[in-house]
Amino acid sequence: MSLVVQKYGGSSVADAESVKRVARRIVDTRKQGHDVCVVVSAMGDTTDDLIELAEQVSPLPPGRELDMLLTAGERISMAVLAMAIAALGQEARSFTGSQAGVITDSVHGKARIIDVTPGRIRAALDEGHIAIVAGFQGVSQDTKDITTLGRGGSDTTAVALAAALGADVCEIYTDVDGIFTADPRIVPSAQQIARISSEEMLEMAASGAKVLHLRCVEYARRFSLPVHVRSSFSHREGTWVTDQPAPEAVEGAGVEQPIISGVAHDRSEAKITVVGVPDKPGKAAEIFQVVAAAEINLDMIVQNVSAAVSGLTDISFTLPKTDGQTAMNALNRAQEQIGFESLRYDDQIGKVSLIGAGMRSHPGVSAQMFAALAEAGINIEMISTSEIRLSLVTRAERLDDAVRAIHTAFGLDSAAGEAVVYGGTGR
Ligand code: ASP
Ligand code: MG
Repeated sequence: MSLVVQKYGGSSVADAESVKRVARRIVDTRKQGHDVCVVVSAMGDTTDDLIELAEQVSPLPPGRELDMLLTAGERISMAVLAMAIAALGQEARSFTGSQAGVITDSVHGKARIIDVTPGRIRAALDEGHIAIVAGFQGVSQDTKDITTLGRGGSDTTAVALAAALGADVCEIYTDVDGIFTADPRIVPSAQQIARISSEEMLEMAASGAKVLHLRCVEYARRFSLPVHVRSSFSHREGTWVTDQPAPEAVEGAGVEQPIISGVAHDRSEAKITVVGVPDKPGKAAEIFQVVAAAEINLDMIVQNVSAAVSGLTDISFTLPKTDGQTAMNALNRAQEQIGFESLRYDDQIGKVSLIGAGMRSHPGVSAQMFAALAEAGINIEMISTSEIRLSLVTRAERLDDAVRAIHTAFGLDSAAGEAVVYGGTGR
């Protein structure tokens, strides 16, 4: 008998019928003799609806109260799912993140898990119950307030619990058959990936691929936990995120590692340009200290060559749109002290990234990527690279075209049929 942690996303439990379908799947797993711990997201677009509700009553809802509100979404689905399982004659118990022992820091809206003490889950499993845990939430170690882990955070709850419980596998159930070479909502000819290394998956998630939460991949990598991403709407084999070699490779069949594993995109970022920064040592440090003090994570940074006459330079960086206002306010307050001329804010940008471990040893990948965009008439505004990733910023309205052009240029289009999207809006 093994212990399986299964996570079901919002589109898999969007309504009563879906909840019943998922309940049957869970009961089937239990009947095969496994201990089952389930992590569930809020039903359908509940989280977005709750955010809209909050914004209707307050322009800037206090983080503590927003977290309290949003965690209600997962409470609804966990209770409803436990009821649906009970109706099938199996014992199920639902637990909030706090009851499940998900301990976090106190940064509302993007808390980090610092410990998992799943005593109550263990006890429920030992009694033969199915444990249902509300994803995306925890409790702060210091303030004892309820926190959330950031959008898409239920994946991280699942992997963190799986690691703490010593599960054999963490299954992430979603509305597509696995991880694809691009988002099938934008590129219908995208192909499903059978296995992907945690390193590549980390780059995909960090580059905007929403199929898995970034912290979930970090966690799985740290604990060497295999993650199986698959559809709750079909019984097909999904995608394995694992650093174990594929069985065929072990048998010496000489499976060649593809150079490129996929194209990711991100439209959640904005760009801030600090105009007219004195080109002196220490100025960049001052700017980024201000941003860091506001608890904001940056992505790309570009500093332009300074004009010799003025001795001034421009520094641009990208950050989550949701942090845009906070960053602008913080920088505005520091304008006099740092001595820059002005700030520009641009939220009409998109980022496209090409990811592949094979890039390390294959020259010409960037030339090919730039050529594909040139041919499509798409202008590049910023560039950043890692050993296994190339990212470019374009105008938001050309982002989908950029993804498709690059996907085609690297021969990733599948000849066989279109990828199936079973549900959800992808937001
Ligand atoms: N319900 C939360 C969200 O929409 C968490 C999740 O789905 O993982 O972001
Ligand atoms: Mg998700």
